[in-house]
Amino acid sequence: MSAAVFSVVLAVFVIAALAWRTWLGARQSRHVARHRDQVPQDFAALIPLEAHRKAADYTLDKQRLAMIETWAVDGAVLLALTLGGGVAAIDALSRRLFGVGQLRELATVFGVMLASALATFPFEAWRTFVIEARYGFNRTIPALFLADLVKGALLAAILGTPLLLAIFWLVRTAGAYWWLEAWLAWIVFTLALVTIFPRWIAPLFNRFTPLEEGELRTRIEALLRRCGFRAEGLFVMDGSRRSSHGNAYFTGFGVAKRIVFFDTLMDRLTPAEIEAVLAHELGHFARGHIPRLLMVRFALALLLLAILGWLYQESAFYGALHMSEPHIGAALAGFALIVPVFTFPFQPLSSLMARRQEFEADAFAASHASAADLVSALAKLYRDNASTLTPDPLHSLVYDSHPPATLRIDHLRRHEASPTP
Ligand SMILES: [Zn+2]
Repeated sequence: MSAAVFSVVLAVFVIAALAWRTWLGARQSRHVARHRDQVPQDFAALIPLEAHRKAADYTLDKQRLAMIETWAVDGAVLLALTLGGGVAAIDALSRRLFGVGQLRELATVFGVMLASALATFPFEAWRTFVIEARYGFNRTIPALFLADLVKGALLAAILGTPLLLAIFWLVRTAGAYWWLEAWLAWIVFTLALVTIFPRWIAPLFNRFTPLEEGELRTRIEALLRRCGFRAEGLFVMDGSRRSSHGNAYFTGFGVAKRIVFFDTLMDRLTPAEIEAVLAHELGHFARGHIPRLLMVRFALALLLLAILGWLYQESAFYGALHMSEPHIGAALAGFALIVPVFTFPFQPLSSLMARRQEFEADAFAASHASAADLVSALAKLYRDNASTLTPDPLHSLVYDSHPPATLRIDHLRRHEASPTP
């Protein structure tokens, strides 16, 4: 393969991905706008027309920004960094500063990451301080917003450096199959990260307080006993520091499992509704969704590393990036940039898998708690988060990790009608 062929293939994929996303985005906007003035039948009793209209406007505003960001970042910036020689320029600067060696490789990888982060920064800021603020969701202030970014970057440097150094070392010493050993290093790294995340990393950004004694805690403990479930703890997170969106999530695995509720969720739901939401989260645990997700990620990582192993020696790849000699820092950075361009056709698959897991967790919740309470909790969440109830079906099929509201509630009401033992 020649550098010219490589460049053309990349450019064609970038344009195809942009066209595909633009078309889907336009469909989504049209669909949401068309259904703006009518609350869907299933929700007529639960969600007022005003809230439904707000959700539509919010979705349209976010969609518009996402579209501009797609063209600017996933289009223009990506092409400038790859075919336009951006990675090569960053690498040349690293070489001038650090000579040839580990430091230069690290500087190239982190330099390219920094360039990508700078490109998305204005969109992130606009989303938070203009759109989220317009709909009354934003609670963060510029100082906290910046502190989060700096903390995130430091964390990436601290955690990423040992992994990168291990990979550079394998490239030098492990022979042609270095990528296989790099994969093992990646697995160890990911498992360590998943284990330390709830206890050491998440608290760098939020405060976690154990759920207080009281009616809610008693209910929840009974539910945990009923499901035979042991967790390291139930925590309430101060999500309200940054946003008024409410949520619940589960994190960690093995003995380090935690269940986390946003404080914004606790304020709005009744204890029975919170119990139903928790039962849904337990469903994710009970059905082994975290290990399954990790397995898929590991398989994907193996495939990607094998491709990187091939590209690392492919002179056409370096030629397309305007570089003369192969070296791992630039190969890794360039590869990380172009991977999403080639994986977009698989997005519907991963969304499909995520939605199936949501249905499984809902079914679990319906059999261990009340389906009716989960329905009313979800309706409140859709209303308060201004999530659209009327997404374009195709857009939803491709992107949504959660089933459309009407479908989800429909399933739950069927469980309600015929409870499983
Ligand atoms: Zn879920």
